Parts: sequence; structure tokens; C-alpha cells
Amino acid sequence: MATKLKEVDVVVVGLGWTGGILSKELTEAGLKVVALERGAMRTPASDYSLPSIRDELRYVVRHDLMQNTARDTLTVRNNPSQEALPMRRLGSFLPGEVVGGSAVHWSGLTWRWTDMEFKVRSMYEERYGKNFIPADMTIQDWGITYAELEPYYDKFEHTAAVSGKAGNIKGEIQAGGNPFESPRAREYPLPPLTPILASQMFGEAAKSAGYHPFPTPAANASRAYTNPDGAKFGACQYCGFCQRFGCEANAKGSPHLTVIPIAMRNPNFELRTHSWVTKVLKDSDGKRVTGVAYTNVLTGEEFEQPAGMVLLCAYAINNVHLVLLSGIGQPYDPVATATRPARARRCSSKAASSIRSWRRADRRPPATTSTSTWRSTAGRTGSSAATWCAAASTPRCRSATARCRAARRPGARRGRRRPRNGTRPP
Ligand SMILES: Cc1cc2nc3c(=O)[nH]c(=O)nc-3n(C[C@H](O)[C@H](O)[C@H](O)COP(=O)(O)OP(=O)(O)OC[C@H]3O[C@@H](n4cnc5c(N)ncnc54)[C@H](O)[C@@H]3O)c2cc1C
Ligand code: SF4
Repeated sequence: MATKLKEVDVVVVGLGWTGGILSKELTEAGLKVVALERGAMRTPASDYSLPSIRDELRYVVRHDLMQNTARDTLTVRNNPSQEALPMRRLGSFLPGEVVGGSAVHWSGLTWRWTDMEFKVRSMYEERYGKNFIPADMTIQDWGITYAELEPYYDKFEHTAAVSGKAGNIKGEIQAGGNPFESPRAREYPLPPLTPILASQMFGEAAKSAGYHPFPTPAANASRAYTNPDGAKFGACQYCGFCQRFGCEANAKGSPHLTVIPIAMRNPNFELRTHSWVTKVLKDSDGKRVTGVAYTNVLTGEEFEQPAGMVLLCAYAINNVHLVLLSGIGQPYDPVATATRPARARRCSSKAASSIRSWRRADRRPPATTSTSTWRSTAGRTGSSAATWCAAASTPRCRSATARCRAARRPGARRGRRRPRNGTRPP
């Protein structure tokens, strides 16, 4: 029998960037907030420090900071006629399970969207006519504009210690920055990271060919920094253990260094770790959400936490899982109709970091290059030339060592590798 707890103003499910930012802002606004996080609390001094943090077996192979697929996994199928099979091992998609969420072990690339990315549908229609986008294609404008979001991008960059070079400040193009970015109010809080040799050579070659290379914006502090909330960062050590690891230098912009400690100092905030939310609760007519049910995974005890507001911050896929388990909304059915409002219609992920060159489809010659990830969006085309990380080249090489060893195992070359969803090849 679940223990019913006292009602609070807000319950936050999952404490990564989204849960951390909301917890900080709402407690400052005077609301009583309880955050339920199924992972553990870890501290930089004891958990992300040298030498133990450079443990590839623990973090890269055994995914110590990430969702445990033996306890909760995703299922994968390519079309509705297939049986959905569980994904037993994480691949490149590595959702976090710890206070701070995925952003403890993220890379920290911090691109802003451009103005046009918020209104792709309108722009296609304006250019190619109303009938250009097929009726069953769900492409939409976002309903908010870049200009409305700009102050929040700015606030985030200053919170997360983003290093970079502005390309457009209030409409004035800046030398050395991305000339295609939409206008920003001011410079990045920190200068760009020092380029690695390959990046430097690429930049020089690109420049000599008439392009405009610019440094990747990254939440890896290029020098010691104190953010506007007083959170202190060390300078990036270019250590090579960035993605998949916590930062040994407190240089990576992460919620457990910034917004979460600030929320935790506020008496309005309470964090309950090892608390796995299993359902969103509704009132008797099913129209209003009243709280959540959760289990303490250490003791097995079950609780109901009533709340005036329920904020699902458990990452897009887990949020959808929870609303479907709770009977909220209409599950997505790709066959019935693509236009019916539905939960979990699309989920996409960026690909790995890479050197890419971009040109506007309507402009030649190619105009700019960047040494990192960029979303493939309408109006741009790209080509990938090599791969590396924002802060240093080594993380990707080091991360790949386990895979390289796996690739050398007997049988690997003969195509006997087990696919990631646990099925065997036909
Ligand atoms: C390896 C890696 C590299 C990345 N690199 C970049 C990058 O360079 N640039 C970029 O922009 N983005 C990057 N991302 C993506 C970015 O980190 C995430 O999009 C972002 O951190 C998600 O924040 P979130 O708050 O939505 O969710 P998360 O940070 O995933 O937090 C969700 C939290 O909810 C908890 N949770 C889940 N289910 C439950 C439940 N039922 N009950 C209680 N708690 C629950 C989880 O334990 C987790 O702590 C990367 C991600 C990964 C994994
Ligand atoms: S490369 Fe820099 S930001 Fe990344 S983990 Fe190392 S010190 Fe931290």
C-alpha cells in the first residue's frame, strides 16, 4: 500500500538540465518543489575526480552514469508489423541516470538555432507554395520565435560557461564568428577553446580557400569562470575524458554544478534520490493531474506525492513512456494518420561531432565551415570530413578503443556482430 505524502506546489520528475533549471526558478519564485530522481547523488569532489574518473571500463563500457537497460530499456522496431524487441545494450544513445542527468557526461556543444529553424513550414510554403509539403508530412513551425528565445539562450550560455566567438551581435557581423547565426545580444561569456592542431590546420586551409571557419560554441570553460549565480568553474584541461565522463576540472557546464546546488540551498526545495516515478496520477474524471506515484528503489517502498503541478523532466523518451503508462493522450499510430495529435510522434537525435562544411542551398560558393556538429536542416547541405570532440580530439578516440577491440574479436569481420536491439541477423 503506497504512503500518501503531503501535497506540494510542484513535483519535478527527473533532475537533469530541464528539472534543475525549473527547480531553481520555481523555488526562487516561492513555490515548494520536490524533485524525484531515480539515480543517485554524486559529487564532483568524490565521484568525478582524478584518477578514478578516467575509468573507461566503468564509464564507457559499463555505462556507470547511464540508464541501466537491465532494469528499464527501450524497445525498437522499424515498422508496426514487427515485434518490438528490447534494446539490451546502449549504443551511441546514452541517457543519464544520476543527479544532473545526461549533462553530467554530455559533450557540451551548445548551438543556437537560427531564426529560420523555428519557422521551417512557413518558409517552405512561402518559397514553394502551400501544396509543397505533403498532407501526411508533420513538419510544423515551433510557435515561438528566435527573438523570443534569445534572452534565454543568452542566460543559458552565461549559466553554463559557454566558450565561443559571436558571429552576429545585434545585426553587426563579427570577424571570426559564424556569419550565419541569428543576432545575439552580446558575446559569449568566455573566449573560444584553444583549437587542437587538426582544427587549426583545418581552419587555416578553409580560410585560404575563402571560407569563414569559426570555433564551436561549447559549455567547456576555456578559463576559470564564475557564473551570474556564483557557481565556480575551473578551466578546461583538454583531458580527453569529456563525453561519457563527469568533468575532473569542474569545467563542463552541467546542472549539478550550476542550477541544482542553487535550488538545493533554497529551503523551498527537496530532492529525493533513488525515487522512480511509475505513474502520473489523475483525479476521478481523468481531466486533471494530481501528483505522481513513485517507488524508492533502495527500499521498495511506494509513495504517492500529490502536487499542484507535475513537471515531467525525465528526458523526452522517458516522459512519453510515463504519459503512456498513465493513460494520458493518444498513442502515436503511424498508420492511422500522421496528422492526429499524438504522444511520441517523432524523436530524433543529433549525430556525432564532426568537421562539416555548410553552404546555403541557394548560395554558392560554400560560405562557412565549422569543426563540429550542426543539425541538417532545410536550406543547408553538409559533408562530414572527420570526427572529434568540442574540447579536445582525444575523447572520441579514447571512447572508441573498446569498440576497436570489439571489432578485432574473432568473427567480427565476418559480420557476426549481434545487432543492438538484441535480435540476431537473418
Ligand atoms: C553522451 C551524450 C552527449 C551529449 N552531447 C550533447 C551536446 O554536445 N550538445 C547538446 O546540446 N546536447 C548533448 N546531449 C544531449 C543533452 O545532454 C540532453 O538533451 C539533455 O541533457 C537532456 O536534459 P533533460 O533534463 O531533458 O534530461 P536528462 O538529462 O536525461 O535527465 C533526465 C533525468 O530523469 C531521470 N529519470 C528518468 N526517468 C525517471 C523516472 N521514471 N523517475 C524518476 N527519474 C527519472 C533520469 O535518471 C535523469 O537523471 C548529449 C547527451 C548524451 C547522452
Ligand atoms: S575536456 Fe575539459 S570540459 Fe571535458 S572533461 Fe576534460 S577538463 Fe572537463
